[in-house]
Amino acid sequence: MRPLFRTACRFVLGAVALAGTLQGAVAQESYPQRPVTWLVPFAVGGPTDAIARTVAQRVSAELSQPIIVDNPAGAGGTVGALRAARSKADGYTLFVGHIGTMAAAPYLFKGLKYDPMKDFVPIFRFPDTPMVLLVKNGARFKTVNDLLQEARKRPGELTFGTAGVGSSSHLAAEHLAATAKVKFTFVPYKGTGPAMTDLVGGQIDAMLDQTNVSLPQIQGGRLTALALTSQSPMPQFPGVPTLADTDLPGFLASTWYGLYAPAGTAPVVIETMRVAYMKALADNAFTDALRKQGIDVLPNDRVGPAPLREFTVSEQKKWERVIREANIAVQP
Ligand code: ASP
Repeated sequence: MRPLFRTACRFVLGAVALAGTLQGAVAQESYPQRPVTWLVPFAVGGPTDAIARTVAQRVSAELSQPIIVDNPAGAGGTVGALRAARSKADGYTLFVGHIGTMAAAPYLFKGLKYDPMKDFVPIFRFPDTPMVLLVKNGARFKTVNDLLQEARKRPGELTFGTAGVGSSSHLAAEHLAATAKVKFTFVPYKGTGPAMTDLVGGQIDAMLDQTNVSLPQIQGGRLTALALTSQSPMPQFPGVPTLADTDLPGFLASTWYGLYAPAGTAPVVIETMRVAYMKALADNAFTDALRKQGIDVLPNDRVGPAPLREFTVSEQKKWERVIREANIAVQP
């Protein structure tokens, strides 16, 4: 190649690279220029809504831009997931996905219209929320054994509230039923917020919900915790045993969440959101407040996009197996 032509090519390539860097830098400086929406696929008042708003408020403070939480609920979270998958990849609509919408859904819904891995890019993983086996305060069940004994005597008659097929409350209850070899009737709601209202009202017999929303109901004397689904007992739930230590050795369940963007979203959006969240995690007041709700704050090396992607893939493999082994009904 003639020297002058080689020099010209080098100049053009350099200019293109510089423009890309500047564009990225400009985007970095300007994103977000306006409020960002986080789609939460469950009803207001449930644990997903609660943790999403808590994290959104703190991340918003880092970005100096409002984060608006919107709740397109239904079908175990898959209504919101599909809306998010189809939203513009401009960084202004992000999605709070979880164990159901991002891991179990492909194996529970034959006609699922989105692909958690192809239609989304991971941004960061939220803290995990262990779960609590809840009954109405004053109910006839005083222990897990009371509940399981009655379920054995009356197969399929005890009602469990869930947030719909594939929600974490549904998956945990199916896992519990399969492990204990009993049958429940699952009653689906648009979120465990509305389900909890019916549990307090006595319309349903029990449910598994997350620690962050269960604690106030227990402290308020409306609900009783029969057991925790965590590895160890929790100081926030004095006197409450774990299922693993009592009736169901080895039984564990928790709800994990991730913030995801529609595929094709610019890397600067992912990085800006991730950095803002890492700054929030460095704030002890923020993480102490989460821990007080029984929420597990994860080590920083498990929080970024790459660990979240690897974790999502491993969770898909786990739930494909659990759904098959527990014979959980697959939806059309
Ligand atoms: N996260 C809950 C579930 O999956 C639902 C909710 O947040 O309302 O069961």
